[in-house]
Amino acid sequence: MRLVFLGTGASVPSVERNVSATAIHRGNRVDLVDCGEATLRQMMRSDLSFMRLESIFITHLHGDHILGIPAMLQTLNFMGRVRKLSVYGPEGTEEVLSCMLTLGAFECRYPVEVKTIKDGDTVDLDDGIMFAVEVKHSIPSLGYVFQENDRPGRLDMALAEEMGVCPGPLCGKLKSGEAVEMDGRIIRPEDVVGKPRKGRKLVFSGDTAPCMRLIEAAKDADVLVHEATVSDAHASMAAQYGHSTAGEAAFVALSAGVTRLFMNHISNRYENDGTIEGEAQKVFPESHITRDLMSFQVPIPD
Ligand SMILES: [Zn+2]
Ligand SMILES: [Zn+2]
Repeated sequence: MRLVFLGTGASVPSVERNVSATAIHRGNRVDLVDCGEATLRQMMRSDLSFMRLESIFITHLHGDHILGIPAMLQTLNFMGRVRKLSVYGPEGTEEVLSCMLTLGAFECRYPVEVKTIKDGDTVDLDDGIMFAVEVKHSIPSLGYVFQENDRPGRLDMALAEEMGVCPGPLCGKLKSGEAVEMDGRIIRPEDVVGKPRKGRKLVFSGDTAPCMRLIEAAKDADVLVHEATVSDAHASMAAQYGHSTAGEAAFVALSAGVTRLFMNHISNRYENDGTIEGEAQKVFPESHITRDLMSFQVPIPD
């Protein structure tokens, strides 16, 4: 499982940073959190296949988070997509998507499922769930928590061999929770397989001021992707527009006890400037600024 930061800038695209979009890629599936202008082209520039796109989770309806959707819908149509695409977002999403689906000379030939969701709603993504949390921005906005399904526990191979199980299909059965029989003796999975391991947890703030609801939802996450629009010197401006400073994003990460923080939605005044990262690392050392097309493989914890 990896994250690909497709667009890491705030409000308007710049040469260095495109506007908001982050991909969660695992196996054959890509899900997007936000889809700002030119996200499709950012996907082409990365090694992600946009034909594998399954769903788009919109954090809120500001243009820098959604204007890539009409182009995405029309290009997928042109490329012959037949599979369903799902789009989720806060109140107003259905109205906006119905405009996008009828924009210009366009007839969508694949199903697009659009759903308005709210705080507490979950969406099943096969290998995990996406959970919506209300955050604090200037318009109704959601953050998202991706919770991967738990993985089977580790097989104690030495113990299994001691009990007469040879490496091979029987081990697979035990790992998937089935008992096996060896010379008339039943070996149960709990005899040789450890406790299920907790799935990974990824959290996306969207645009928000520091928010208690998000801190609670992000507890012990493997990765927190939090906006850090401006430096701490502009704290009052950030508060006025419902954004966070670098120090505030780091404070959220520290309070939630996450493993690592990635900061995005960076104002274009900070290009090639270590201010944002420096301020955050003073509060939470595992703070990293994102750059467009950067990717991060989320490690499986022990
Ligand atoms: Zn924004
Ligand atoms: Zn916004």
